[in-house]
Parts: sequence; C-alpha cells; structure tokens
Amino acid sequence: MKKIQIKTVKGFNEILPPESFRWRVVEDKFRNLLEGYGFAELRLALLEPTELFARSIGGETDIVEKEMYTFLDRSDRSLTLRPEATASVVRAYNQYSLGKLSEINKLYYVGPMFRYERPQKGRYRQFHQLGAEVFGEGSFYQDAETLVMLAQFFHTLSIKGAALHLNSLGCEACRPAYRDHLKDYLYDRQESLCEDCRRRISENPLRALDCKNPQCREAVTDAPPISGALCDGCRQHFSGLCGLLDDTGLDYQVNPRLVRGLDYYTRTTFEFLAGDLGAQNAVAAGGRYDRLVEELGGKATPAFGFAIGFERLMMLIGSEVAPLSSPFAALVPIGEEALRYLFPIHVELNRKAQVTTLGFQQKSLKSQLKKADKDGVTYALIVGPDELNQGEALCRNMRTKEQTRIPLSRLGEALRELLP
Ligand code: ATP
Ligand code: MG
Repeated sequence: MKKIQIKTVKGFNEILPPESFRWRVVEDKFRNLLEGYGFAELRLALLEPTELFARSIGGETDIVEKEMYTFLDRSDRSLTLRPEATASVVRAYNQYSLGKLSEINKLYYVGPMFRYERPQKGRYRQFHQLGAEVFGEGSFYQDAETLVMLAQFFHTLSIKGAALHLNSLGCEACRPAYRDHLKDYLYDRQESLCEDCRRRISENPLRALDCKNPQCREAVTDAPPISGALCDGCRQHFSGLCGLLDDTGLDYQVNPRLVRGLDYYTRTTFEFLAGDLGAQNAVAAGGRYDRLVEELGGKATPAFGFAIGFERLMMLIGSEVAPLSSPFAALVPIGEEALRYLFPIHVELNRKAQVTTLGFQQKSLKSQLKKADKDGVTYALIVGPDELNQGEALCRNMRTKEQTRIPLSRLGEALRELLP
C-alpha cells in the first residue's frame, strides 16, 4: 500500500486538545455574558454568494481585493468562504425578516472566518471570531452599552492590557466632503505613498490613514483629522458616547487615524488593541453601520456590532482562567478479575461527569500509577487478587502518597465522599 500523508491547507488553524477545552470555557463565558444582555445566537452559512461581500465590505478594501477565498462552483456561480460575519448577519436579518421579531434585535455568532493572508503569529487563513450585532437602535447609548459589555468580557477573562481606541467616521452627510479634502491632501503627497494607497486615493482615500507601511504613516502624520469635519449629528453622537464612557469609568483613547478596513461603517468605529500581541495587536474591532441593512435590500435600520479574534484573545488569556480539569481518581485493576469487578463501578461513577479513569489493557501497577500521575488524578484505587480476597481496595493519595484501605462494598460511596 502506498502511504500518503495529507495535511491541512496552509494557514488553516485547527484547535486541538487541551487547547480546545480552554476555548470551550471562554466560548461559554461569551455566550453567557451575551445572553444575559439579551443576545441570541445565529448559526450561519460559511459560504455565501461573492457579491454579498463585494457589495457590503467594499471593492477597494484589502478583504475584497486580495483576501477572499472565492471560487466557482459546479454551476459556475461565484461563491466565497466568509471573510467576516457582519455581512452574513445582515443578509440573514433581511432574508428571514428578523426585524419583525422584535424592535431591537441582538444577535451573536461564533465560528470560523477565511482570509487569504500571509500566515504568521495571530494571523491565519482560517481563524475564528466571536461577534455580535445589534439592529434597530441608533442611539449612542447602544454604542456605549455594547462597548461596556465587551470590556466586561475582557475583565471576566482577566485581560488587562486591551486598550479601547475610538473614532467617528461621520455619515453620508459629512464624510464625502472630508474625503474630498483628504484626497487633495494625499494627491499632494503621492510620491511618499505606497502603491496600494496611491491607487486608492480616488476610491477610498481613508484607507491611507490606516496603512501599515511606515512611509505612508509618516506621510499622513498631519493629515486633517475627520473630527474637524463631522456634521452636528455625528459630533453629538460621538461626544454623547464619550460622555457615557466617562460616566461608566471605561478608559478609551480617541484615535483620529482609526478608519478600519471595511466600507460599511458610519459614525463610531473602534478597536481594542493589546500590546502583548505584537504586530497583530487588534483583539477586537467594530462599529456602527447605519446604512448596510438598507444597502443589502432591507428597511433602513441602524446597527452596531463587533468581532473578537478568538485566536488573539486566547493568546492574552492566562492558564488560570480556563484551567484544565482532570479526572478525580484512577481505578487501577491488577488482573482480569479486578478489571471486570471495577468496570461497573467506573461506569456508575462516570454517569454524570468523568470522575474515574480505568485502563482496559492489564498494564503493570507501576505503569498504571505513572499514567494516573500524568493524568493529574488525586487518588488511585488499586484492586488486585489480594484486595478482591480481602474485600478491600488500596486507596493511594497521589499527592501525599498516603495509603488507606476502603471496603470494596462501599467503593463508589467512599469515592463520592472524597470528591472536593
Ligand atoms: P488586522 O488589522 O489585524 O488585519 P482586521 O481589521 O482585518 O485586523 P477585522 O476584520 O476587524 O480585522 O476582524 C476583527 C478581529 O478579527 C480582528 O481584530 C482580529 O482580532 C481578528 N482577525 C482578523 N483577521 C485575522 C486573521 N487573519 N487571523 C486571525 N485573526 C484575525
Ligand atoms: Mg486584516
């Protein structure tokens, strides 16, 4: 037989045990927090018509220009593995008329996203996001409540170094004039910009403010900030939000360079940046997108949302937040008869949760104890032919090495009493 070894597609991040256990603990905390705030889960398609992303995220963005996994299916329809979920949530909101269910709709999702990027630490081609969207509420109170909730999530996970950066991108009333103003500024400095930015000046000049190229950064240091160009409505929205954050004691930094890579944002945009993450320092991001529901064929509906990068989040979390649990005791049979005797006890004890381990392979006492130690159990209950004769198991505390005897007739009961 010719053997071949097949591996994952490059950059597709998979989560293996014991890390998968830690992920589940964190995911449960996310679900509990959001459901407490009235959010309900959406489980969406991973594959969408390409036009959904092209139309919502915007043609002149990194994602649509070069990061999407797009291909033709067997009937020549262009499909794309979702690079983010906001567009899909909006698509679902419209498709299933979710707005009819309640005036304010709060939805969350957890799952994989796909972007063809250069894989590196904190950046993968399949990665995961925890995210949420609120529909139907245009007030800055909603922005504040969502940001406070997100900060609370980080706090629950004992993450200290995530700093909130905030900006307003204006709306269709004030952004066009600002864009023109910025275009002029950028045209004057064309030679100092990277090729991407030069190309984007006419279509998406705001992206130059966000470019990671050091030369571009230098060139835009004294670009006019959008804050000076906001209309009254946008200015009030932003200062209202900042006031609420001040009242709740949530620290933030106003960052006039924060523009985000996607076209659909209006007014508030934000990122949580964590120094500990190195170059890939954004752990969560999002903002308001009051036009997108309508642009994708629905009724005009204001909306606000965010996405957390799950991999980057896990890099910030200490092992104490999601400690690995170990079975409480190892049942150690010596010989077939003892194994047979212990099996029903093992099954009974594990009906609710895994309390005991039991090896089926008749290994030596020494190797079974070694394995018990590795599994991190607190007790080993040793039963061999002698113990069966005497009607007692040997109970060894793996930490203190102390040994006691327990009558076999009440083995299960005794173990239950020992449980912390
Ligand atoms: P970046 O500036 O790092 O490329 P982004 O602005 O493209 O991030 P968003 O589209 O806002 O990211 O996605 C929200 C979050 O998802 C990011 O803050 C980040 O934590 C995470 N994320 C984005 N792209 C990746 C990726 N390729 N691999 C892992 N996590 C990612
Ligand atoms: Mg990106």
